[in-house]
Amino acid sequence: MNDHDVCPACLNPLVAGLRDWHLQCTNCTYEGSSLRVEIDVAGSVEILDEQLREEGLSHLRRSNFQMLIARLPIDDRAGRSRPRKLLDVGCAHGWFLQLAGSEYEVLGIEPDSRSAALAASHGLPVRQGFFPHALESAESFDVIVFNDVIEHIPDIGSALTACIRHLAPGGRVILNAPARTGILYRVSRFLARSGFPASFERMWQKGFPSPHVHYLDEASVRTIAARSGLRLVDSYTLPTLSTHGLYARIRYDRSVSRLKAATITGAMVILAPFLRFLPADIKVWTLKAS
Ligand SMILES: [Zn+2]
Repeated sequence: MNDHDVCPACLNPLVAGLRDWHLQCTNCTYEGSSLRVEIDVAGSVEILDEQLREEGLSHLRRSNFQMLIARLPIDDRAGRSRPRKLLDVGCAHGWFLQLAGSEYEVLGIEPDSRSAALAASHGLPVRQGFFPHALESAESFDVIVFNDVIEHIPDIGSALTACIRHLAPGGRVILNAPARTGILYRVSRFLARSGFPASFERMWQKGFPSPHVHYLDEASVRTIAARSGLRLVDSYTLPTLSTHGLYARIRYDRSVSRLKAATITGAMVILAPFLRFLPADIKVWTLKAS
């Protein structure tokens, strides 16, 4: 039996969902996938247009990161008796490190060699490798952040258990991840059921080097965290859609044509004002040692 056969939240069996790679728990609301994660450790494959990706994601990510940093409790910030330490797991190009660096002593871990090199070239403290192996056993942090990372880690339970070993007393784990309850995800599910699976496959990042292997919600986060000795203490949402850079964000997957990207962009620009009244697709869950 492999990891994909069992729900990481309630340990009941998983069965095929809307696609043969899509998995649903037979007991709880957890959804997962058997899509293979093949992170480009050596930097040899180029499926995504990294320049368009950076351009497309930059505005939304940076503004969401600023909101996330503003939500961290005041007592966690610098200016106290010692500098507060923050670990950014899967720091990619280092945008979050750049923003958090003014308030925290930061460290990033990034498995992808190109992204790690790019972040390091901006003078950011980054180690290439995987969490927690890139850390020394005695290293601890006041905040451990997973920005769009935890949904890519197949053994989510072990990753959270490792957090406990590297959390300073009173420290927090921040999971910033796509939510199963979000409106875009629900619409993509509906379309997949109606015979149009493209947006559902995109939501799971099927065909990407590092696809999504989990779609979480409050209940599954609470249960998975509890299993790892962590307790859910806070949750809130972040904006999913910024029309700024949207075309580039759709086009960084080179398989999407210009016409199709322009059509999707147009539709999204029309829909964007309505989306903020609907369930958000990005959630942030804060965990503490229980
Ligand atoms: Zn389950």
